[in-house]
Amino acid sequence: MKHEACFICGAEIIYKSESELMKCDICGQEFESNAACANSHFVCDVCHQAEGVEFIENACLNSKEKDPFKLASLIMNHQSIKLHGPEHHFLVPAVMLTTYYNFIGDSDKIKPSLAKAKKRSANVLGGFCGFYGTCGAGMGNGIFLSIVLNSNPLSGDEYSTVNMITGKTLIKVAEAGGPRCCKRNTFIAMETAVEFLKQKFDLELPLSDIKCKFSFAIKECKFTDCNYYE
Ligand SMILES: [Zn+2]
Ligand SMILES: [Zn+2]
Repeated sequence: MKHEACFICGAEIIYKSESELMKCDICGQEFESNAACANSHFVCDVCHQAEGVEFIENACLNSKEKDPFKLASLIMNHQSIKLHGPEHHFLVPAVMLTTYYNFIGDSDKIKPSLAKAKKRSANVLGGFCGFYGTCGAGMGNGIFLSIVLNSNPLSGDEYSTVNMITGKTLIKVAEAGGPRCCKRNTFIAMETAVEFLKQKFDLELPLSDIKCKFSFAIKECKFTDCNYYE
């Protein structure tokens, strides 16, 4: 029998002899299963096996979370999310859209907004940060707000606002310095988005103190030179 850890809380997975109907803590669907963690978390096989972008969408669709870091942490624990990779370009707008709409009590907008964000972020390829001078996680904030504000290339105020949030994010990414780290840049993007929403729209999303759990695994980690190093 395999001894895996629950990716929601890290507790041991316990296999019961009898299966029972359980509700998946990610997608909310019910399945017969005999495996749950010591804290009763159950994650269905579909969610376990999902690829990065698909998993991000599943996790956001069923989430009631308002704190971007808490939702991003849950997602980053999944095996499909690599330490670095272009799935972070969808992760940022997905997490921001979900927590924003949960926060303002408009969760019906999450599903159609995630579908738009998925299409738009698919154009933001891996390596954009170093090859185009535009970090994809930073662009994720532009995707997030452009969907919320329904902006397009002919918009007026919204045009300015969506470019402003990306610009502010990219400046912070630049100031943090290389080498690239998709965890760090995702954290920077979420912090910048929360601050921007507060200044521009007087909306204050909750945001936990961000501490990175991935330093040990990231070979280019800047350790104490990174704001999120613990
Ligand atoms: Zn658990
Ligand atoms: Zn599931």
